[in-house]
Amino acid sequence: MSVKQAISRATSEKLFETAKTYFPGGVNSPVRAFKSVEGAPLFIKKGDGCTIWDEDGNEFVDFCCSWGPLILGHNHQGIYNKVLETLQNGTSFGAPTVLENELAELILSRNPYIDKIRFVSSGTEAVMSALRLARGYTGRKKVVKFEGCYHGHSDSLLVKAGSGLVTFGESSSAGVPAEFANETLVLPLNDIEALKNCFEVHGNDIACAIIEPIPANNGLLLQEKSFLLALREICTKYNSLLFFDEVISGFRVGFNGAAELLDITPDIITYGKIIGGGLPVGAYGARKEIMAQISPDGPVYQAGTLSGNPVAMAAGIAQLTECAKPGFYEDQERRTRIFVDAINDYAKSKEYDFELVTLASIFWISFDGKRNIHRADEINPDMTKFSRLHWSLLNHGIYIGPSGYEVGFISQAHTEEVLTKTAQLFCACLDEVFN
Ligand SMILES: *Cc1c(COP(=O)(O)O)cnc(C)c1O
Repeated sequence: MSVKQAISRATSEKLFETAKTYFPGGVNSPVRAFKSVEGAPLFIKKGDGCTIWDEDGNEFVDFCCSWGPLILGHNHQGIYNKVLETLQNGTSFGAPTVLENELAELILSRNPYIDKIRFVSSGTEAVMSALRLARGYTGRKKVVKFEGCYHGHSDSLLVKAGSGLVTFGESSSAGVPAEFANETLVLPLNDIEALKNCFEVHGNDIACAIIEPIPANNGLLLQEKSFLLALREICTKYNSLLFFDEVISGFRVGFNGAAELLDITPDIITYGKIIGGGLPVGAYGARKEIMAQISPDGPVYQAGTLSGNPVAMAAGIAQLTECAKPGFYEDQERRTRIFVDAINDYAKSKEYDFELVTLASIFWISFDGKRNIHRADEINPDMTKFSRLHWSLLNHGIYIGPSGYEVGFISQAHTEEVLTKTAQLFCACLDEVFN
């Protein structure tokens, strides 16, 4: 297949220059800035189905899907109608609406892991609130997190491993006091020994262990089930709560997320992304007695002016209604395999050191194809090949998140036909990168 001319990005580049005078780095969330692939981000004008268009009029098959929320694709008719219908009654009341009940009912009637839920406005807010709940419920201070998992940008979780064996974390952002970071213990993924050692020393002070059960923010670091089972067991042993951050995996790997897929029962779960149908929604949930700690029932304070916003609830209801239909996830996975298998088979036949790592409708572009990567520190830090592939894909009309650590998503709108065709183009891009 011939190499296409580089697309014109003049309008996006001009808009980015203006944006840089308004926003730090020209963006309202850092990964959007295209820093790790060098160059100006594309300014997106509209999306429909699995396609997006930028301000220069270029057309792309979108595998970013707003970083995961758009499991039905862009501009889905059901979401559009439900949002519009709701919008006609106003945008916000700061009082309960029936839509909150409806979204809660959709989730709780199917989910055996949580009895009650609270809606907030982002994944970060959900995790931050649930962490406070874990501390309030247990009366303990310390939190265990795992290197390579992302949980949003609250102070306690912007923490990376310090030096030494069992150690206190070091903040990974300026502005986070060392005293906060010291309450977070950071462990490597997939390391039962480190887990045991940590709990032996600090177990009685640990409020919870928070993990992405399917870590998908730093590569797709599929965990051994035995590791997650060991984590469940050790949390139970020390009366610490097991906290699954399912902001990505929730409603993505199955309606009830990783908990159901792996058949492991956590004590607290957070959701985000898909739950809001492309509007800002996050949520946390737990058993009755844990949720009873939340105000106004209990002493753990948490509130939000726009929490449970009716327009956002409407989008969530419309989206999750589709996700709850029989066969939805099986079909997602079937179509994803068409794409992933075609590309992996090709890369293998050419002996390229490349693999799409995949689970459900998530895929991660790995240039370490020969290894089974479970931990963040096993990822090849050289992202030169990723950067080249990224630009090659854009020039061939394929949009992926602009970072080699991010995963791609397939939506219901990615048809078999589109996926087959796009896989061929993807392979042509691989040839460009490797030759
Ligand atoms: C995206 C994400 C968050 C943060 O959610 P925001 O809505 O971006 O604040 C937290 N945890 C995980 C696992 C995520 O993927």
